[in-house]
Amino acid sequence: MSRIIGIDLGTTNSCMAVMETNGPVIIPNAEGGRTTPSVVAFTKNGERLVGEAAKRQAVVNPERTISSIKRDMGTDRKIKIDGKTYLPQEISAMILAKLKKDAESWLGEPVTEAVITVPAYFSDAQRQATKDAGTIAGLNVQRIINEPTSAALAYGADKDFGQKILVYDLGGGTFDVSVLDIGSGVIEVLATAGNNRLGGDDFDKCIVDWILGEYKRSDKVDLSRDAAAMQRLREAAEKAKIELSATTSAEINLPYISAGRSGPRHLSMTLTRAKFDELTAQLVEATMGPVHQAITDSGISMNDIGRVLMVGGSSRIPAVQEAVKRYTGKEPFKGINPDECVAMGACLQGGVLAGSVGGLLLLDVTPLSLGIETVGGVCTRVIDRNTTLPISKSQIFSTAADYQTSVEVNVLQGERPMASQNKSLGKFRLSGIRRAPRGVPQIQVTFNIDTNGIVNVSAMDLDTGKSQEITVTGSSNMSQTDIDAAVRDAQQYAADDEHIRERARARDRAEQLLYRAAAAEKGMERNRKKLLTASEKRVRRALKDDNEAELNAAVLELEGLLD
Ligand code: AMP
Repeated sequence: MSRIIGIDLGTTNSCMAVMETNGPVIIPNAEGGRTTPSVVAFTKNGERLVGEAAKRQAVVNPERTISSIKRDMGTDRKIKIDGKTYLPQEISAMILAKLKKDAESWLGEPVTEAVITVPAYFSDAQRQATKDAGTIAGLNVQRIINEPTSAALAYGADKDFGQKILVYDLGGGTFDVSVLDIGSGVIEVLATAGNNRLGGDDFDKCIVDWILGEYKRSDKVDLSRDAAAMQRLREAAEKAKIELSATTSAEINLPYISAGRSGPRHLSMTLTRAKFDELTAQLVEATMGPVHQAITDSGISMNDIGRVLMVGGSSRIPAVQEAVKRYTGKEPFKGINPDECVAMGACLQGGVLAGSVGGLLLLDVTPLSLGIETVGGVCTRVIDRNTTLPISKSQIFSTAADYQTSVEVNVLQGERPMASQNKSLGKFRLSGIRRAPRGVPQIQVTFNIDTNGIVNVSAMDLDTGKSQEITVTGSSNMSQTDIDAAVRDAQQYAADDEHIRERARARDRAEQLLYRAAAAEKGMERNRKKLLTASEKRVRRALKDDNEAELNAAVLELEGLLD
């Protein structure tokens, strides 16, 4: 087995590190850079470029240059170039293949093993897609770990703080926040939250929109339809943004940006930090919701947080640092390099797996609850959100109808109480159940989530020993937007949901009562039986009419007769 390299496969930039005798070391790429742009380009003469070379030619070849592919991981987006179709994991694999090649030439030995990081909030499908990308690139992905966890690993590996830390990770395209508990040799993720569609790119977009508006006003030219001009604008916007982290105003100069009747036109503007802060205030504010959620979910208070780690290039934005300070009441810790610490943590984890780093245990969590669909379309939770991984949990279920010989297991992910409101990760059928009245067969459903966050569900009939299982794969994914919406909806509709759940429970209770009544009728005295059948009829009618109040009254009556 080769040495295990740690790879931070970022939206904007990627970074890799390896364990040397004295600890983690960043592996420079073939161009000498410590980070590599996560950009892939196909030139017109069929050449494939990755990294700095791809980024540099993006201006003149915008249609055939792919950046921020990480945002599409786990989706079925198809990228068509020269009649060939690529999936996001194939594009990511091209980035990984370059990193692998560069690492091999720097180390002077083959590299086949890697630990790759993903945002903590990545869904199962996105993790799968990342693992697949590694495999396509010829890497044996030993472990997928969460980026903030990895950062904490780099920060706390040789320290024993016994404290809780908050990792605020704002990268190019994603935002993650995690609350971790650093104990002696154990790093436990207590909670994670985030937004997979928020990052430095959005800050750039605010500047681009501002430039477009200003230029339209002053020069009466709309640059938004000119792909090459837009690419130059995006680059200039990012450059200005980065400058504004160190200075209070930045010059934006783009000569020959368009051509008018009187010849070429140039663009020249000044963006002040105050204006930039005003343009992006909403984005900064949008990161506070997940911070609040992570704190709440972890069951601790802000006062318990000992340190706030800032990770990701965008965490260098002064307004971001100020907002975090204001919100947490803590001075953000700047002792770790926000661009490199994730890759370093990943290679430390690689060291743990290879046995060269001892005394460290990494405990991650699952970002969303998992369960199965049960009678009445209810989602019955088996594993709660933020449960520590790996986890294996079983629950016994039964049949809903008499003499049912097969059941369909609908695996659900999400926070809502009804199946239809959550994401179905996949379905499978367990057949060959011995014929028996409803409720008698014992079907054990087991959820297994491994350390990479990949879900496997099995169902076993405890009577016959027959079983079926599925591993949730990328084809049945849930997008980040879906996850965000699921969590938001769950909060917004909590009260409605409780009502819907109550109704489903009441209907189920009524069905069970009818079943009991049918059994009790046998051998019952005539007058009582008459009363009972009338009451059963009333329950059935209320069920059919879906009349909630009437159903409750009818159920009460029937219960009284059966007692
Ligand atoms: P990452 O995904 O962690 O590599 O972060 C990349 C993002 O960080 C990009 O959007 C960069 O423009 C942004 N970035 C890098 N350096 C700075 C800086 N000094 N100030 C503001 N943003 C930065």
